[in-house]
Amino acid sequence: MSSTPVAVVTGANKGIGFAIVRALCKQFPGDVYLTARDPGRGQEAVAKLQQEGLQACFHQLDVDDLQSIRALRDFLKEKYGGLNVLVNNAGIAFKVQDTTPFAVQAEVTLKTNFFGTRNVCTELLPLVKPYGRVVNVSSMVSSSALGGCSQPLQQQFRSDTITEEELVQLMTKFVEDTKKGVHAKEGWPNTAYGVSKIGVTVLSRIQARMLNEKRKGDHILLNACCPGWVRTDMAGPKATKSPDEGAETPVYLALLPSDADAPHGQFVSNKTVRPW
Ligand code: NAP
Repeated sequence: MSSTPVAVVTGANKGIGFAIVRALCKQFPGDVYLTARDPGRGQEAVAKLQQEGLQACFHQLDVDDLQSIRALRDFLKEKYGGLNVLVNNAGIAFKVQDTTPFAVQAEVTLKTNFFGTRNVCTELLPLVKPYGRVVNVSSMVSSSALGGCSQPLQQQFRSDTITEEELVQLMTKFVEDTKKGVHAKEGWPNTAYGVSKIGVTVLSRIQARMLNEKRKGDHILLNACCPGWVRTDMAGPKATKSPDEGAETPVYLALLPSDADAPHGQFVSNKTVRPW
């Protein structure tokens, strides 16, 4: 078993995830895994970094596929006895002009952005080693979507005692409410992406609390963040940040020094803790 530190980035064949891997290859003292759901696109991305003189490793990971997540888990367990850095970056967003019915957009978006991210965490968080760093890439849209929720929903999403099960129930209810055409009446905002990212931010707050309760002595720091508005296939060419600039906050959180005890359980953008 290798004692080399290991970092894993999800959805890293392009966009912000790719830029996070590039930065980690330069700054992280260990093996950096570029993961992608499609091995062809993933290997191509690794080759692109190689042309820049950077050495990334590849492993397949489709966050929608539990078998794929468990295969990565078993690989990390066997080869490294765990992992040191996990960046949950994989995500999707329907374009504004997309005419796919809202209920379908809700189901598909929540599946990857919330349930996929949660499944990766369920399988990989127990493997994170002491002084590990976990970064869940959310979005400022989670804050604006929170503001668009009814007061009772806002209270639940801001609660310091909400459980992961309760959060899963709420995310499931959102999808069901869109299918019944009652999501607005039930207090939800009109954004599937926004609700999925509320899920990611609240999940991060819960997970950090659980780490405090169950693994206090392990000094693991876990945060949600917004990369900013970044020029990728998701956000388009008019966005203000380059992918490398978008990677800055996630990489800052992934490389928090071992003597840091904060931020933890926070929502961070531009390397600054934001109120939730
Ligand atoms: P992007 O260029 O569209 O890249 C998304 C990445 O996620 C791709 O590598 C994609 O793989 C991967 N992915 C999607 N579904 C996946 C799955 N089921 N399993 C594994 N990988 C999957 O988007 P981006 O702008 O870099 O976004 C990265 C993250 O930042 C997302 O979580 C996004 O919500 C967040 N974010 C972006 C912005 C922005 O302005 N760009 C702002 C705030 C937050 P394929 O190539 O196979 O599709």
